[in-house]
Amino acid sequence: MADTTAVSGLAIYKNKDNWTSFEKKMNEDFNKEEVDGELQEVRNGFKADCTHIKDKASSLSDKDITWLKQWSTTYQDPKIEKLKGFKDTDLDDEPKQDAIFNALLLEAQKARTHSYSPYSKFQVGAAILLKDGTIVHGCNVENAAYGSTICAERTAMVNVVSKINRGIRFEKTKQIVAIALVLRGGGTPCGSCRQMLYEANPNMYVVKSDIDGTDKNKDGKVINFTVYNLGKDLLQDGFGPESLR
Ligand SMILES: [Zn+2]
Repeated sequence: MADTTAVSGLAIYKNKDNWTSFEKKMNEDFNKEEVDGELQEVRNGFKADCTHIKDKASSLSDKDITWLKQWSTTYQDPKIEKLKGFKDTDLDDEPKQDAIFNALLLEAQKARTHSYSPYSKFQVGAAILLKDGTIVHGCNVENAAYGSTICAERTAMVNVVSKINRGIRFEKTKQIVAIALVLRGGGTPCGSCRQMLYEANPNMYVVKSDIDGTDKNKDGKVINFTVYNLGKDLLQDGFGPESLR
């Protein structure tokens, strides 16, 4: 039976020659230098994963492979989009910054339509922009036990970690460059969200608009929005990773 491991394996196992050359290259690279400790453990884990994937992929029938190929070409995650041609230096240029924040706010509007807010009816959408132009959505998700509710900003950040980040420390990558928020009444992020975002990048832009998802001008642009710097405007002297040292 096909499983998710086999799906990942398929990318490497398109044909046996690819797999053989991949495995050869991996072993050559790993044998180039002796390592010990943590890195060796990582390598061992990686090798074990590769062997597992290879075994799984080898056990697939032709029918499974046909199905998987079809699936992998038609499936696209609707929550991950990319701002075409974006460079993070574009944010230093005011006209470009304006256009980027408009685009990001429109993405936050889309995210807002997913809001699960049956109790407050207060829908919030968020869109995070990564250094490479990737946009990740988030919405607020309420719960009958009210305290278990999570805000849109944190949902978006959780999405970044679970779908893209793969455990790499934010303080090294400063991967998140901006977050846009769309909500009624134009509130700013709550304390918990400010704290969680601070971990990712104290210098990120926080852009918010109180539009309702319909208040756009003729060009489809967002009319009113406010831009903050997280660390300077919303959470001065915040507690970050360096505070633990
Ligand atoms: Zn919040």
